[in-house]
Amino acid sequence: MEEKQYSILVIDDEESMRDSCCLILAREGFETDSAENGEIGLAKLQESQPDFVLIDLKMPGIGGLEVLDQVRKINPEIIPIVITGYATVGSAVEAMKRGAYDFLPKPFTPEELRLIIRRGIERKRLQQEAESLRREKKLIEENFITMVSHQLRSPLVAVAQYFEVILGGHVGEVAARQKDMIEKAKVRLEGLLDLISDWLSIARMNGGRLVDRLKPAHLEPLLARLIEFLQGLTGEKHITLTLTPGSGSDLAPTDWESLEQVFSNLITNAIKYNRESGSVDVSVREEADSIIVDVTDTGVGISQEHLPFIFDQFYQIDRSKRSGDKGSGLGLTIAKKIVGAHGGTIHVTSEEGAGSTFSVRLPKAQSLH
Ligand code: ADP
Repeated sequence: MEEKQYSILVIDDEESMRDSCCLILAREGFETDSAENGEIGLAKLQESQPDFVLIDLKMPGIGGLEVLDQVRKINPEIIPIVITGYATVGSAVEAMKRGAYDFLPKPFTPEELRLIIRRGIERKRLQQEAESLRREKKLIEENFITMVSHQLRSPLVAVAQYFEVILGGHVGEVAARQKDMIEKAKVRLEGLLDLISDWLSIARMNGGRLVDRLKPAHLEPLLARLIEFLQGLTGEKHITLTLTPGSGSDLAPTDWESLEQVFSNLITNAIKYNRESGSVDVSVREEADSIIVDVTDTGVGISQEHLPFIFDQFYQIDRSKRSGDKGSGLGLTIAKKIVGAHGGTIHVTSEEGAGSTFSVRLPKAQSLH
């Protein structure tokens, strides 16, 4: 394997010291440079960002300790080693405390210098290894998200579409028992697809890509469209789903693609955990600095003991006793994170057996400035 050529800057006011260090290190394969005082040294450090810097502690003008402090600011990956006279062992200890990797007491032999530098190289190698592992891990995480979304999701979507075709009777008559089974399979598949997309949302969030740019928007027309779309879910339990608009004059900073997911989840839950012939109302109201959207249902409600936890990841209230058991327990966690990324809050009030209200409070667009 080809050896990497390391670079080093020697900062020392003594010319003979600079020259001899550079000579020894050049023989070791280093690319060397030198500076006769702290000021020039700092300028060179800034410009060439070497792998190592050898700093004499005792120099006129900007002293070695000061140079040392600056090294960390210029580039914390530069490895600083200090050279110190016998009289200044105390400052060598100080230098170590301030981030020097090692120190070399004067006078030193070429072998002593080589030894310390080799230790530095080992440290550099470990630093680079850690960095490349970090990069690799990030890449794996990103690829993992792409892998899950494409390689897992796409075939499942295709299977769901085949079911759709079969159930639609497009490839021949389907017997009642077969139809029943395929419908059940389809429901399970949809549950799995929902789980994957919730899981992807969480993974994206952890990667910090939660919301795109926020643009001021009126929420009501967007909510009206969503509600119209979700009417399709109300039939089975005969739920009435309504929108009660507010004044509609204020704008909220919005990334609708992600906020839609929040409201879609809240409304779907309000339907899912509702009673037969119950109702769900989505209302918009305004306060001084915020716009509040309440999603109110007449469903099973949530008991006080569960209330503090329902926004926690994977938290679900005993499913066997409840209707609608297809969730992942991630929906509210995602909702809370998305609303938080909008500068808003989400909270719930609920009475067991009577229903719940989930309130999303978003700042008004103008109150952001
Ligand atoms: P899930 O995918 O299970 O619906 P959520 O994170 O959306 O996951 O919700 C967590 C739990 O909170 C649900 O399992 C349910 O028990 C409870 N819950 C959520 N919304 C309501 C609601 N409107 N009424 C009653 N319980 C609810």
